[in-house]
Amino acid sequence: MDELEVDVAVVGGGACGAMAALRASADPALVVGVFEKSTREGCNAEISSGSLAAGGTRFQREAGIEDSPELHAREILAASGDLANSEVVHALCAAAPEYVEWLADELDYPMEIAGDLPRAGMSVTRLHTDTGRSGGRPLIQHLRAALEERDNVAFVDEAPAVRLTHTGGVVDGVVVAQNGGELRVHAETVVLALDGFAGNPALMKEHCAHLGDPFYGGVSTSTGDALPWLSEVGAELRHLGACLRSGLVVVGHGTRVSPSLPFFGAVLVDLEGRRFVDEEAQGYSKLAGILQHLPGQRASMVWDDEAHAATSDSEMMRETTRAGGYRTHADERSLAEALGLPEETVRAALQPHPGRRPLRAPYHHAWVTHGVLTTQGGAVIDTVGRVLRPDGTPVRGLRAGGGTAVGLAGPESDGYVSGNGLLSAFGMGWLIGNDLAGR
Ligand SMILES: Cc1cc2nc3c(=O)[nH]c(=O)nc-3n(C[C@H](O)[C@H](O)[C@H](O)COP(=O)(O)OP(=O)(O)OC[C@H]3O[C@@H](n4cnc5c(N)ncnc54)[C@H](O)[C@@H]3O)c2cc1C
Repeated sequence: MDELEVDVAVVGGGACGAMAALRASADPALVVGVFEKSTREGCNAEISSGSLAAGGTRFQREAGIEDSPELHAREILAASGDLANSEVVHALCAAAPEYVEWLADELDYPMEIAGDLPRAGMSVTRLHTDTGRSGGRPLIQHLRAALEERDNVAFVDEAPAVRLTHTGGVVDGVVVAQNGGELRVHAETVVLALDGFAGNPALMKEHCAHLGDPFYGGVSTSTGDALPWLSEVGAELRHLGACLRSGLVVVGHGTRVSPSLPFFGAVLVDLEGRRFVDEEAQGYSKLAGILQHLPGQRASMVWDDEAHAATSDSEMMRETTRAGGYRTHADERSLAEALGLPEETVRAALQPHPGRRPLRAPYHHAWVTHGVLTTQGGAVIDTVGRVLRPDGTPVRGLRAGGGTAVGLAGPESDGYVSGNGLLSAFGMGWLIGNDLAGR
């Protein structure tokens, strides 16, 4: 078997892995290898909306928004029912403004605070994104391009890790498949950054059968390869039944409509024309659980031109528009026909909740259902990504972050707040990389 020696072996070159490698390799004394299953198949960060939750950034201050890492952490913990790891949540929220500003200032990525992306569970505007609302793909490409410029980093593509190596309970490397053979990588530290298992039907059936039969909206590479390796070294796994779900998946298309729409008056009605939820108050992960139990497992999202104009400048809405994922109706009558409902029922359903803006014809309408985007369960870690056993001791030589580690939602998918996914991934990549580089 071919052999290779590095200081840090990062498994997975998505959000967490790319960030961990960039930060660790800032120490020129460290040799870092990133082993990526397949950039062709892609990572979830690339197909994500690229919305980064961060509290207390200079972008917020410049926009007059008062926020802080502490408030951000409190809101994540409240949504999780105080069942997420408070120390980890606080560490990630403290890191978030640092790396958002670093992306803009050091890596020249065009970041801004996104005033058009209000979200349930956020008391202030907190999502940051690129100025073109282009989603996660250009951001990941940007990070990988920065990695290419580092002399002490090798990014090895089409090289999936197949197992960890360990001696006496200490992880000392990883074996990767490459060119039909195997490569034994010796490493002081292995960083598991290969996301979760939502793309593995057998594991989803084992741990997430209660989510029904959702549309899967993540990438094919999320097959949970790390779960058996983690169990083998005695790591504690937690919250395997929780997922990042979306109740905004467009039926028949698999694209999504913007979670911002309800903040501009959009309404949700079930097959009988009933408003079944306070649209603004529901996170999209929680909404998925509600839709799962509605007749037909679907609902209609209805919005108007004003709401459309406020939300259409995003990759998510551009994709839905390109896919022909919604229809436009001139008035209540044609909307009612499309929904198969009496016109009076539709008129009643369009009445705004007190204090919200009324919709005005013409109306746009999409059928939405529930989907799973990523899993949220995984390895229990500390504030620098050390993988812990049930007795709280770390597995030496092993770190984990992003979707391979337990997420911030707590045990239920309902606890997921927008931005938690990339916060866990970029944030823990940042904390792990900084720690390895001795910062
Ligand atoms: C449609 C969608 C939209 C989303 N939007 C947002 C958003 O706007 N904001 C937000 O905060 N979160 C969002 N998320 C969640 C977010 O994308 C994920 O939580 C985040 O990408 C997880 O980062 P990661 O580094 O753990 O995994 P990824 O970014 O998926 O990277 C994992 C990498 O590991 C590789 N890999 C897998 N197995 C192996 C192996 N055996 N060996 C080597 N490499 C391997 C994969 O190929 C991949 O490149 C979204 C998710 C989806 C699916």
